[in-house]
This record gives sequence, structure tokens and C-alpha cells, in this order.
Amino acid sequence: MTASSHPIRRHHTRAVTVGSIVVGGDAPIVVQSMTNTDTADVEATARQVTQLAQAGSELVRITVNSEEAAAAVPRIRDQLDAQGVDVPLIGDFHFNGHKLLARYPACAEALAKYRINPGNVGRGKKRDEQFATMIDTACRYDKPVRIGVNWGSLDQELVVRLMDENTQRAEPGDTHEIIHQAMVASALENAERAEELGLGKDKIILSVKMSGVQDLIAVYRSIAERCEYALHLGLTEAGMGAKGIVASTAALAVLLQQGIGDTIRISLTPEPGGSRSQEVIVAQEILQSMGLRSFTPSVVACPGCGRTSSDYFQKLARDIQDYLRDQMPAWHSRYPGVENMTVAVMGCVVNGPGESKHANIGISLPGTGERPVAPVYVDGEKTVTLKGEHIAEEFQRLVNDYVEKMYG
Ligand code: SF4
Repeated sequence: MTASSHPIRRHHTRAVTVGSIVVGGDAPIVVQSMTNTDTADVEATARQVTQLAQAGSELVRITVNSEEAAAAVPRIRDQLDAQGVDVPLIGDFHFNGHKLLARYPACAEALAKYRINPGNVGRGKKRDEQFATMIDTACRYDKPVRIGVNWGSLDQELVVRLMDENTQRAEPGDTHEIIHQAMVASALENAERAEELGLGKDKIILSVKMSGVQDLIAVYRSIAERCEYALHLGLTEAGMGAKGIVASTAALAVLLQQGIGDTIRISLTPEPGGSRSQEVIVAQEILQSMGLRSFTPSVVACPGCGRTSSDYFQKLARDIQDYLRDQMPAWHSRYPGVENMTVAVMGCVVNGPGESKHANIGISLPGTGERPVAPVYVDGEKTVTLKGEHIAEEFQRLVNDYVEKMYG
């Protein structure tokens, strides 16, 4: 299934340029991620940014939460540039962003975008001044800004105001509705304020992140109807493992199918010692499974059943998938179009030959009681039959040959 099979009509948004990457307009939906290192630790942060970029993150956000972090930002940028890693860096600011951006001009310059959380800018009159300082800095350095509303830090003055207005209505809405309205109002009112301060419409990206799937769908639908700002999509605090992946996918798939969302981030809590790059892989898989973008060749594998008594084919499917993903940084430029390739790894003769014929290249392994041979299909034709101890290595070699021949 390719991106062109079922075109989804995208909600119209204004394109925003973030360093070398375009978000919104007709640009492909951008995958982004965020580091979890201490930004003040230049080495560790540059290393993780590199890993995320190599996994396919097209933008990487880093928290800028202290003087030390702000001072480290230009050094992280220099280190990445020296290594040839040109992924744009986004600075995540809360509470003291106005001070840090003013005191550390090299940080303001090195970042490709600022994320401002309007709920964490300050209170009352100070809030307006501090917000204005950050927007002025963005204008001075010609940087785009994401006005990123998060329901965990929603502007309480705004909530109180909307609650008061609600109680005066003939038919008041419920608290849930008011929170949704407050999320959207916070994003739109702050975007309007940023424009009044001189920031162009093409420099503003909005997000209204919530942690409930239905809440997220409701607020993004609402904001998409009401503006043309590029939208950053993500379920906040999605959680760990299968729960985080499924909740994020459920929410984002509905919105993406409706053409809503210009850049996505999957907020997974990594397992202790787990790779941060998992969130990038999940984001790519969502877009690729929906036919919106292609990043890496797809492995079609059957789930296995009582007909596969050994885990041989599971290992082969995993190894091929890991192998293809590992090759992509190098293959991307050397073999254009290889990301659209499909590879089938099937467990037995029931669906194995059929599914393998539909893939670019596929292998049907022997199930329990079947002859110990594995036919390989290339573009629908059976080409060779593998047998013996080295089926995995030989199949990998055939995949390499196919890639070289078709995409080289
Ligand atoms: S292809 Fe064979 S092994 Fe795989 S799920 Fe179907 S019947 Fe089971």
C-alpha cells in the first residue's frame, strides 16, 4: 500500500519553515521527538539528538530549563554540525524562558524554533510582559514559535473566566466542554497576541495536547475548524509500552485520517534503560501504516500459529525488520524509493506463498510437518527454494541483491 493509494485530504494550514524542515501547507507530515537528557550535559544531549535524528526524527526538541541548559544549546548545535547532523533543534521553555532567551542570545540564535507553553509563562501583568519578551526574541531572530497548550498546565485564569461565562449562560456546558474550550481559546488567543506583537502567521504552530484519546480528538477537531495555523499533534503523557503506543495511535489515526496534523510526536515513557528512539519508530509506523509516508521497507509477517512449532520464523521476521531499519540511514540516499519495498516473512504454506507473491520479495518458511524448504518469491514469481542451516543469511543476501537491482 503506498501513500498515493488512498489520498487523504489534508486540512489546509499555513506552511512554517523550521530550519531546513517545512511543517504544514503541502509538506509531508513531519516526525519529531524530544530528548530526555539533561540539556546542560552537552555530550549526552548531542549523542541522544544524533540517535533520534538517525532513527528518523526530523526535528528534535530539547528542554531549556536553566542558565546551564541555555549556555549549552549553542555548544550542542556546534557539536551536531561538526558531526554532520543537521537536524533542527527546538527549545522547550517554561517559567523562565523570557529570561533565558534574553540572557543567552547564542541560545536564541542556535534554536530553530521556540516552544512556549502559555500556561507556564507567568501570571497577570507579568505574564503579558514575559510572553511579549519571548515573541520579540522570536521576531528578532526570525524564528517560528509553537504555542503549545497542555491541559496539565492550562492557564487557570482563562479557565476561571470561561467557567464564569459558562455559569451565566441559559444552558451551561459541562466542565469537560469548558476545558476543551479553554484549551482551544488559550492557543488561539495567544497566537493572536503573538501576531499583534509582530510574529507572522507563517511563524506560528499550535498544539493543544491532552492525555485522553477522546478529549484530544475533540480539541484538535475544534481548533482545526477555527484556524489555519500548522498543527503539532500528540497525545501528552501517553504512557508506557503497549498502552502508550495504542493510545497514541488510536488518537492520532483518527485525526490524521481527517487530514488534521502537520507534525507528530509520540510521548512514550521509555522502559528503564529502553531506547528513546522508540517514539520515533512508533511515529513513523503510524504514518507508514496509514499510507501517509514511507520511511522504511515494510515487513509483512504472519502471527504464527500451531502450524509453526519453532520460533525460527519469528526470529527471521525480527532480524529482517531490524536489518532493514538499520540500513535505512545509508540506503535512504543510495536507493531512492527503497522505503516503499515490502518484504514478506511467512510461517507456513497456508498463506505463505500467497502473501509472499504480493510482496516485492517474500519467503514462505516450512511449517510443522512440511518439507524443510523455503520458497522465495520475487515480484510474484518463485525464484529459488532455500533449505538447510543458512536460510536466514541467504534470504538477507537475496533482499540485498533485490534492493541493489531495483533501487540502485
Ligand atoms: S501462514 Fe501458516 S503459520 Fe502463519 S498464521 Fe497462517 S497458518 Fe499459521
